Amino acid sequence: MTKKKLEEKPLVCPECDGDAEPMMINVSGLGVTGWRCKCGYEMLSPGELEKAYLFLQAQKHEKVKISKRGNSYMITIPKAIADAIGIENLDMAEVYLKDRKTIIVGI
Ligand SMILES: [Zn+2]
Repeated sequence: MTKKKLEEKPLVCPECDGDAEPMMINVSGLGVTGWRCKCGYEMLSPGELEKAYLFLQAQKHEKVKISKRGNSYMITIPKAIADAIGIENLDMAEVYLKDRKTIIVGI
């Protein structure tokens, strides 16, 4: 993953007319570039807002079926997750058992 470039210029805060400074903003675990004012108001550019939206959509829990294929079992990765992190056909993933009820899939 490449390091994100911060926005460079302050913006005027629409809430208090103060200077909103460019910085990384944490949206539910995803770091996106944006601006934050001393009053707490935060702004994201449209591109970063879309990334944050896709990420939040992908955090919703979905039920998926487990199906058997040969001696292995398959699950599908919901489109919201694929869209949020850019999974493509034939990408490799790492799978392991975390505990009796949790399978971790890392890409
Ligand atoms: Zn403000």
